[in-house]
Amino acid sequence: MIRIHKSLAEIVGEQYVSNRKEELYIYSQDPGMMEPHEPDYVVMPKTAEEVQKIVKLANEEKIPIVPVGGSLSLSGLIIPHRGGIALDLKRMDRVLEVNEKSRYVVLEAGVTTGKLKAYLERNHPSLRFSIPDAPPSATVVGNIVIHGQGRLTQQYGFNSGMVTGLEVVLPTGEVCKIGSCSVGPYWFSVAPLPYLAGLFLGWFGTTGIITKLGLSLYPRKKMRDIEMFLVEDPNLVPDVIHRVTHTEMTEDIFIGAQPYPPVFKDIIMIGICITGDSEEELEFKRRMIWDAVRTHIDSREGGFMMLTPDIKLPLLEMPTTGTTRFADVMKGGGFEYCGPIIPVEKFPEAFKRLLELSSKYGITYGMTGRVIGRSHCMMFAFGYPFNRADPDNIETTKKALHDSNVASLDIGGVPWKPEVPAQKMVMERMDKNTLELMKRIKKLLDPNGIMNPGNWEAE
Ligand SMILES: Cc1cc2nc3c(=O)[nH]c(=O)nc-3n(C[C@H](O)[C@H](O)[C@H](O)COP(=O)(O)OP(=O)(O)OC[C@H]3O[C@@H](n4cnc5c(N)ncnc54)[C@H](O)[C@@H]3O)c2cc1C
Repeated sequence: MIRIHKSLAEIVGEQYVSNRKEELYIYSQDPGMMEPHEPDYVVMPKTAEEVQKIVKLANEEKIPIVPVGGSLSLSGLIIPHRGGIALDLKRMDRVLEVNEKSRYVVLEAGVTTGKLKAYLERNHPSLRFSIPDAPPSATVVGNIVIHGQGRLTQQYGFNSGMVTGLEVVLPTGEVCKIGSCSVGPYWFSVAPLPYLAGLFLGWFGTTGIITKLGLSLYPRKKMRDIEMFLVEDPNLVPDVIHRVTHTEMTEDIFIGAQPYPPVFKDIIMIGICITGDSEEELEFKRRMIWDAVRTHIDSREGGFMMLTPDIKLPLLEMPTTGTTRFADVMKGGGFEYCGPIIPVEKFPEAFKRLLELSSKYGITYGMTGRVIGRSHCMMFAFGYPFNRADPDNIETTKKALHDSNVASLDIGGVPWKPEVPAQKMVMERMDKNTLELMKRIKKLLDPNGIMNPGNWEAE
């Protein structure tokens, strides 16, 4: 409508609102497999005040709003299922503050992981954050909204657990601060106050728009290295993880298996990253890790692989580009995964299910996993590369993804960043009172149901 377009242009400026066909097309999809749907307007605000005005307008006019970060979640969480405003936050891209001594950063919603990494390397080289392996155009806020995981997740838990404060525009237009920043000038922690951050994390933008984020930073050691432990028997993986995490010496532990190149078929790789400020520190950690899995080496059930520099360096890259490169194994550049969070002891069953589904549908697979916390749980990705130019291949992959979600729930896991159909599966199995609580919270915060409609929508 011309009237709405004009009002939006008055808020953000004519050049930052668009309803041109080519732009609506771009914002109708992400690189995953969900059906596209176009917004009516693409809007790019610069400040929280502009976001606030847009939300107030949308509320009066009952227009849906979908917050958009890097659009890389792959599960279609930014698809405007009911049209409305695609609110692209990438112009809000300032790193506002770094507190070196209390080790936190305050940033705006559009800051990308690539930008924050470069900013810290340049200005605060002793500090780092938990970088996910998503392409660097992913936003830090988009990642914490979906409970992302990064290179420090094995030590400190989900990236969303590293939030120290939030500024949020509520669906009714009020700007609200969460955590210590709501009481004083510092953004050091969301505790000891009631845990209101939970009203916005994992909700996929259905309860408000985060405009600022406080995030924990961690020491950046001078050196990093990786050891690669290989096993053939998936049943050994939980024990290896248990033993290695017991050392408390590791930065990151990831697990991978794929049938290409054929020399790696039937082998499960457990990548164990360590950091240190000196060669002695690294060597000490290496020895601890080797000792931890000595029994598996002695019994010849597993062993460490010699890593030449050309294998090692890409594995140490942050983000690693391995997943993106594997995406093109079928040509056509499609890649999608269902990555449930599962108890570590369920790894063998999840892996068995993945192989069964790959064989049932005659498609290839790429399994990746990441240990979360001191082996409290792990992300297990049922990953499938597919050919975007082949409609049959796309249909088959969709079925395999559906079955992977069912398998994840059957083994006791919870789908991570689930697409809308998988959200429904989760809600069907959810405790009824918990679901009712979610509905009440949603209704309270978003009485007109304008925020990212379609997501977390219970019947
Ligand atoms: C090759 C590849 C590798 C990946 N590896 C990882 C990995 O290692 N770890 C990992 O965690 N993820 C990974 N991902 C998944 C995903 O790309 C990342 O989690 C990414 O950080 C998501 O951020 P985004 O900016 O793209 O979010 P978007 O997709 O733009 O948004 C995600 C959700 O958050 C909402 N949202 C966005 N901004 C706001 C806001 N300001 N306020 C409220 N809601 C908001 C959106 O509406 C949407 O529901 C990977 C993806 C790819 C393609």
